[in-house]
Amino acid sequence: MKRCTKCVMPETWPGISFDEEGICSICRENEKEIDFDWNKRQEILKEILKKYKNHAKEKGNKYDCLVGYSGGKDSAYILWAAVKKYGMTPLVATFDHSFKLSEDAEHNLMEIPKKLNCDHIRFTIGNDFRNALCKKGIEVMGDFCWHCHNGVGTLPARISMQWDIPLQIWGEPSAKYQTYGAYSYDDLEEQDEEHYKKVFQAGITPEMVLPEGYEFRDLLPFMWPQGDFELKAIYLGNFEPWDQREHVDIITKELGWRTAKVEGTYVNWDKVDCPYEPVRDWQKWMKFKFARTTFQASKDIREGRITREAALKLIEKYDGNRPRALDAFIKETKISEEDFNRLTKESMKKRK
Ligand SMILES: [Zn+2]
Repeated sequence: MKRCTKCVMPETWPGISFDEEGICSICRENEKEIDFDWNKRQEILKEILKKYKNHAKEKGNKYDCLVGYSGGKDSAYILWAAVKKYGMTPLVATFDHSFKLSEDAEHNLMEIPKKLNCDHIRFTIGNDFRNALCKKGIEVMGDFCWHCHNGVGTLPARISMQWDIPLQIWGEPSAKYQTYGAYSYDDLEEQDEEHYKKVFQAGITPEMVLPEGYEFRDLLPFMWPQGDFELKAIYLGNFEPWDQREHVDIITKELGWRTAKVEGTYVNWDKVDCPYEPVRDWQKWMKFKFARTTFQASKDIREGRITREAALKLIEKYDGNRPRALDAFIKETKISEEDFNRLTKESMKKRK
């Protein structure tokens, strides 16, 4: 398998390309970050925040921004930064994937917004519908996470519209990982309907995943709201350097955010918010022959933390093992392992 000569990203990552030196498009995009005038970007950010603080004041709205929150390291940091660093008053909105969370994940989800004195909405769906959507997601795209990946985008948009909170603060820009429809650092990426379709939907529309026995209107929470409304959904990583380890440091010390060892990687702070991320890694492995350690190790090479040789050893150890979490997933979703394997493999043939 061909890999980037600088990091270890493989040619199978959707949307990747390589230049004549064999260096991948993700590495090249991330080289830009070094040249930014971060002070200037901070000024731009502060102007935006000021504008929406005033907007809330004029409208008599308590909330001047909205933060989509999973309890993971990125959204915990965004929330901390919004409140403590930038003095905002966010409404916190959680699209809960409805899988049973570990005690640590539940703590991170519910206690951190409270600690920051934020108001918090947690939205979730029932088990049967979730299971049907998971199965359909595997069938159509070889990924059971369709409902979650859509819900985290559409729920905040619906709340922004209905509660008149135009400003949303997101974290890591897609420039950082460059896949289907990703944006460049120069774009100052923002979320809107077009962005949602490109980055979140990635070609899979609600029509395609409607499970048998359900009506189209059942998918309403997963659809972009119709009609005009003001939205300014920015990515914090475009305005300050995005250093995940530094973020983890801040949220563990300042907020008591809990780390956890999640199967499939060598760090203890990634994807703590989903019990079935290892299952998703397993599907990724089945489809593309790489998983989360390849991704993490590539980032760590770019940041000068590990060598390429060390990365290859980590991949050997962590990627491509059937996760123990698959047993719990099968039990919770009632999708048999046989169906899981068969549908994941068949989805690849359909997409080719
Ligand atoms: Zn690379």
